[in-house]
Amino acid sequence: QVIFMNGEFVKKEYAKVSVYDHGFLYGDGVFEGIRSYDGNVFRLEEHLERLYDSAKSIMLAIPYTAEEMTDIVVGTLQRNGLRDAYIRLVVSRGVGNLGLDPSSCAQPNVIVIAEKLSLFPKALYETGIEIVSVATRRNRSDVLSPKVKSLNYLNNILVKIEANLAGVPEALMMNEQGYVAEGSADNIFIVKNNKLLTPPGYVGALEGITRNAIIELAARKGYDMKEGVFTRHDVYVADEVFLTGTAAEVISVIKVDGRIIGDGKPGPVTNDLLYAFRELVQEDGVK
Ligand code: PLP
Repeated sequence: QVIFMNGEFVKKEYAKVSVYDHGFLYGDGVFEGIRSYDGNVFRLEEHLERLYDSAKSIMLAIPYTAEEMTDIVVGTLQRNGLRDAYIRLVVSRGVGNLGLDPSSCAQPNVIVIAEKLSLFPKALYETGIEIVSVATRRNRSDVLSPKVKSLNYLNNILVKIEANLAGVPEALMMNEQGYVAEGSADNIFIVKNNKLLTPPGYVGALEGITRNAIIELAARKGYDMKEGVFTRHDVYVADEVFLTGTAAEVISVIKVDGRIIGDGKPGPVTNDLLYAFRELVQEDGVK
């Protein structure tokens, strides 16, 4: 396995970053998780747009154009002989001194890792998963926008720890007002009377690329699909609940905080969109 590091491909065991990198010292940087299916990189343009927007928001200049970055991502896949892969693109502030001032960092570190990964075992896509809601809150969207996919993932990590403690594969985070925001690394959709609802970005959800693809597919299939604010109660009484994310793809949720959702099996709307998504990823992507 080789890893792209600042213009070179480096063997995995030699791919190392300095302890003075502000990504390590302060979580100062941005990243993307991207996926390729049968050699197609799914929605690479959207991922790169989000990456460059995140970087701009934190005043981090990425030393490659989006076109160059496209070639880097595709090149990393090819160099590793991978067709179905999870790709992690990281841009950290780079090496500086111990102070947090980023102006001491001369050059960002740009790293692309591609490997095989599946988040949940295959069987869970057939059965659906159980989740719990947790105490960790999404940070306020007016302070540090959740649209910035930064290397500061501590609240998401705390969500994952709470999920582990509860013995479930994923958990649900509210924002400070108690409205449902998202999972640790995925967006949530609920279905009630054939109407689909997902939290808007300002509630504190990352505008997921998978989420946006599902919104498009739902509209194309004629579902009533809206962004809207909702609470845990609405999740408990939904007919169907599902999560979306690059790593998670589309996965049904059949139990939330002990409440069985619908009849406890992945519902027809979820399955319809899951199959449509699986078709979409085969046809839609950068080769
Ligand atoms: N929410 C958070 C906090 C995430 O980290 C991710 C993963 O990228 C998502 C949602 C899902 O977004 P996407 O579909 O772009 O992977």
